[in-house]
Amino acid sequence: MAVRLFNTLTRSAQPFAPLDSDGKTVGMYCCGPTVHDFAHIGNFRTFVFADLVRRYLEFRGYAVRHVMNITDVEDKIIRRVREAGTTLREFTGRYEAAFLQDFDTLLCLRPHATPRATEFIAEMIELIARLIERGIAYRAPDGSVYFSIDKYRGCGCKYGQLVKLNFDAMRVGDRVASDEYEKESLADFALWKARVPEDGDIAWPSPWGEGRPGWHIECSAMSMKLLGESFDLHLGGEDLAFPHHEDEIAQSEGATGRPFVRHWMHGAHLLVEGKKMSKSLGNYFTLRDLLAKGCTGREIRYLLITSHYRESFNFTLDGLAGARTALARIDECLAKLRETAAAAHAPANAALLEQFTAALDEDLNISAAWAVIFDWVRDCNRAIATGQLTPVAAAAALGAWERVDSVIGIGNKAEAEAPAGLLALLEERNAARKAKDFKRADVLRDELKSQGWAIEDTPKGARLKPL
Ligand code: AMP
Ligand code: ZN
Repeated sequence: MAVRLFNTLTRSAQPFAPLDSDGKTVGMYCCGPTVHDFAHIGNFRTFVFADLVRRYLEFRGYAVRHVMNITDVEDKIIRRVREAGTTLREFTGRYEAAFLQDFDTLLCLRPHATPRATEFIAEMIELIARLIERGIAYRAPDGSVYFSIDKYRGCGCKYGQLVKLNFDAMRVGDRVASDEYEKESLADFALWKARVPEDGDIAWPSPWGEGRPGWHIECSAMSMKLLGESFDLHLGGEDLAFPHHEDEIAQSEGATGRPFVRHWMHGAHLLVEGKKMSKSLGNYFTLRDLLAKGCTGREIRYLLITSHYRESFNFTLDGLAGARTALARIDECLAKLRETAAAAHAPANAALLEQFTAALDEDLNISAAWAVIFDWVRDCNRAIATGQLTPVAAAAALGAWERVDSVIGIGNKAEAEAPAGLLALLEERNAARKAKDFKRADVLRDELKSQGWAIEDTPKGARLKPL
């Protein structure tokens, strides 16, 4: 059986087959965060979804190269840097570090590469130059460079691969300077934005004068540089399908003349009372907000992966309480399995793995996979309660669980390892105590607590324990 994944390009689930002739290596790009603020858990729904895709493909034997960019220059960031009266690097550095810390707290595997847009300006300029050379991009009177949708279509290329577009509403030559716009505002979009006074010192030299890249060209340049001109999988939240991903396809295929991405996957939104969780609506929780309420990263991760990735769902605090109960059931069962297994060893039990795989092979049907897991928990509990589970059978069950957990990534409460960023805070707190700076040590203890971790002083030294 092959893994079948829904492809936004074909609007259907199709067997996943990597481009690489070895049939094994997979290039996967997920549009990363725009580091202008703390990410909210709606954003993280998309990143946890990408983590699940990567983990599942690895479980199925693929060698995945996972790239997630960091958007550290675009319209919103420039506005916020100006308001904060600081430098671009200082501003984005703070939110990038916070993002990666949250990413770890949610038990996501770090991508193999996390390129920053500002470090790929040369590649962006080169890509824009190729588009100009092919007659698909042009300079506007203000020195900016735009992508001509009309010329692109004139080359026989298709604009509107991910979404249906109504070209009758489009007037040739109309331009949109902003990175974000609706389908109704279909127009030529900016590849290079000429420097304006509001940009302050955020500008780079280019053959077209000083300026900065548009948001869309950033992802085309970074993904093709790191994964090749054609690669397997591109992911993001459903709001990115238009214009961001449509523009990525146009820029990339316009420059190379080759198909850009074989398989597009879009995650549905996390909602609050039926509306998309978003900064602009103000209906959001950051991860930090929830940790401060006493939730753990593990519970939030669990909640974010309980629904199918193509179904939106409402976030509620009750839902989080349900996550805690569900995890406690799993933890309790695992503890009993460990007790029963004691020193026994056995190969992983195949039945659980077969059912789990059959569920996830069908476009990552996670609801079916959870049903398999909770049936298994029930059966294990029953067998333990009636004394029918031998140590060898318990060891086999634990072996299978380890494989399952390599995909869902919730680990085990008792074994939960603190992320590296938090261990660094613990070190800092130990150093502060040594230096008798107790005030600083307390601040660090509180910071760790707000991230869901308590400090436990043991004879072997201080260690972190999930709250
Ligand atoms: P941004 O940092 O705004 O560029 O967004 C990062 C990612 O979060 C993108 O893939 C968005 O599609 C995704 N995203 C934004 N809001 C939500 C939401 N409410 N639910 C799921 N994904 C979201
Ligand atoms: Zn992108």
